[in-house]
Amino acid sequence: MKRKRFIAGATCPECKETDTLRWWVDHHIEVVECVRCGHMDRRSPNQSPQPEVVAQSADVIGIFKPE
Ligand SMILES: [Zn+2]
Repeated sequence: MKRKRFIAGATCPECKETDTLRWWVDHHIEVVECVRCGHMDRRSPNQSPQPEVVAQSADVIGIFKPE
């Protein structure tokens, strides 16, 4: 079960209402939802970028040389 807690004193950036935001953690991502207008905001606590797959092959076959 996910615990959804209201954020006391928080103001929704969409509808500007106060005390309508609740948040919970879903798959290690903080989710903030406004129960009034349905605004949702997700943010990862750890902004760790995905490691890019480096595909550097030394064996390059078939290089076309326009000469
Ligand atoms: Zn709202």
